[in-house]
Amino acid sequence: MTSSVSSSSARAAPNPAESHNALWLETLKKLESKLQRSAFITWFRDTAILGREDGKVVIGLPLTTVMNWHIERYQSLTIEALKETDSAITQVVYKVDGGLKDNRERTIDLLDYFPEHRKRKLPGKQEVKLAEGLTSKVLNPRYVLEKFVVGSNNRLAQAACSAVAISPGGKYNPLFLYGGVGLGKTHLLQGTGNAILQKNPKATVVYSTSEDFTNQVVEAIRLQKMEQLRKRYRQVDVLIIDDIQFLAKKERTQEEFFHTFNSLYEAGKQIIISSDRPPDELQLEDRLVSRFERGMIADVSEPDYETRLAILQEKSQDYELFIDLSVLQFIAEHTTKNVRELEGILMQAVAQYELEHRMPTIKSIAEIMCKLNKDPHLKEEDVGFVVPEKKRSTLQDVMELVSKYYSVSIDDLIGQSRVREVLLPRQMAMYIGKEYLGVSFVRLGEAFGNRDHTTVMNAHKKIARNTQGDSNVLREVHTLTTELGLR
Ligand code: ADP
Ligand code: MG
Repeated sequence: MTSSVSSSSARAAPNPAESHNALWLETLKKLESKLQRSAFITWFRDTAILGREDGKVVIGLPLTTVMNWHIERYQSLTIEALKETDSAITQVVYKVDGGLKDNRERTIDLLDYFPEHRKRKLPGKQEVKLAEGLTSKVLNPRYVLEKFVVGSNNRLAQAACSAVAISPGGKYNPLFLYGGVGLGKTHLLQGTGNAILQKNPKATVVYSTSEDFTNQVVEAIRLQKMEQLRKRYRQVDVLIIDDIQFLAKKERTQEEFFHTFNSLYEAGKQIIISSDRPPDELQLEDRLVSRFERGMIADVSEPDYETRLAILQEKSQDYELFIDLSVLQFIAEHTTKNVRELEGILMQAVAQYELEHRMPTIKSIAEIMCKLNKDPHLKEEDVGFVVPEKKRSTLQDVMELVSKYYSVSIDDLIGQSRVREVLLPRQMAMYIGKEYLGVSFVRLGEAFGNRDHTTVMNAHKKIARNTQGDSNVLREVHTLTTELGLR
């Protein structure tokens, strides 16, 4: 696939390099508008037109891997873009020229010519209006069912979503998905919504979180417009509520949701719900729970090695970043907790490539993991550098997270109150301090408002016992320690 063209055959303009440059710049402008920015920067930096002979253009690329990628992905797009500028062009050939790398004399500085136009998005604020007073969060177009990688951890959930996408309001109604964070629930929910809308663009699909729903109910109560809110929801064809666990303890919202649920259900409308735990462990009204249990329930759990690898392959294609299989295998081996973490590492690799033009290697990925303070148990002989000690969470970190998680203040945690809302979080923080940080009972007692060490021992015993029986407590320990990087 390489070819060379003698400079004497490059014709026309007095300075061929200059006219090649001008032609290439025009072409790059066209390509830039057609490609994802990360792909454009990654694959078109350090490139140049090296020569031209009638309808044939020779494009220089800095590396063989880059050339393979161009041949596979960008050849026809490049010809098209060249043709738009000069209709005489019919063919491109590629030539690897290591001297192009970081050579700003011979190549166009893409970051300079194509500065990033940052689109300011307010996360979580993007909404579409569907009807008077009825809004939905915008569905992320990247979340489609086709791009969801199926493994034994999510097979049933994915199959149920696909079935719902084909016939909403059918057999699987309501559809209830549950599982831990970062395992693909939101992707599945939004992917199902996207699929339904693609088939039937007129469908009224509302995607909302339980927080949004609560806010609407609170607002309607305040403005005494409850009746209107109910009416509006009756127009909905598909109601998707993400993270329903946050309806716990919000009685009035639960009641409204119950009525909305019933009227939609009876009208044969599809309802899809996600949660971090199964219905019977939700702290919701029994009648709501029993409604959920009447439908289809499926869980998503942590992906195994093969599924993690398949997800990485899918995502790296999505970002159009070529990563060696051995590097993807390395990431899949060392990242086990959830898919969001896998994606985070990949995103960093993309960014590194854009900024420093470094192809991801095992070493560079290992560096990223260290920087993100993941605990991938890296060994020096595998990664080629001395692995720094991971920054350990402190008791202060535990207290801050526990306070945020249970919505109690740190003052309450160390204070004297013994109401249940405060007692459980306090015991939980003590338990994690002992069990995961190895802080002594005496020291914990001091940190928690100068309590006696026997109090701490009792707290520890209580949580330890509950992790055996009460799976909610177990789940909470799991979530908190994962978040703290202690697992
Ligand atoms: P959850 O809602 O369960 O916390 P998300 O749906 O937000 O998790 O998933 C986190 C990220 O991981 C998303 O970017 C999603 O696209 C990705 N993801 C999770 N599972 C898969 C999968 N099986 N295939 C492809 N991407 C996945
Ligand atoms: Mg989610």
